[in-house]
Amino acid sequence: MALSADTLAGLRDELGDCHRCPLGDTRTTLVFGHGNPHARVMLVGEAPGRNEDLTGQPFVGAAGKLLDELLGHGGLVREDVYIANILKCRPPGNRDPKRVEVETCTPFLMAQIHLVDPELVVTLGNFATRLMLDTREGITALRGQITLVQGRSVYPVFHPAASIYDRAKRETLISDFARVPEILDSLKGGDAG
Ligand code: SF4
Repeated sequence: MALSADTLAGLRDELGDCHRCPLGDTRTTLVFGHGNPHARVMLVGEAPGRNEDLTGQPFVGAAGKLLDELLGHGGLVREDVYIANILKCRPPGNRDPKRVEVETCTPFLMAQIHLVDPELVVTLGNFATRLMLDTREGITALRGQITLVQGRSVYPVFHPAASIYDRAKRETLISDFARVPEILDSLKGGDAG
């Protein structure tokens, strides 16, 4: 799919009332993405959940509250970062994304990354990590490691939603987010990778 938009607003227009995959028929609200269009840090999640589907905003409700707390550990607030999911529409019952859905929607995420042009892409959980690193390896093995992908640093962490009731994962997430300032400093110096 060739996308021609050269701004996030133009890309949102191009997405339109999307029905390119079957999730267009079951969603309530399309969740495009949100945040600083020139963010140094972009967060990539999997798909909207129930609250996101109702509000049109990424990461609201309990997972959103935890995300705000995590950003705070990294010296950041929502307005500093850009947040988008692989899928812009909620899979029914929060089931895993299907391959056709991921393949159809991914060009929009890639265009968002291109337009925001962040230095650091934080992938939240298995799906985003596997997509961005083009691997079948799981998040438990990959979390906390930085990989350069086409000149951009990708930093996988657990998904906040999977960590709400898992104390150990939550503490790991906190320490991974607390490393973000140090990672950004090292990127400025050009010595991360
Ligand atoms: S998930 Fe993506 S491709 Fe599918 S309908 Fe929604 S916006 Fe379109």
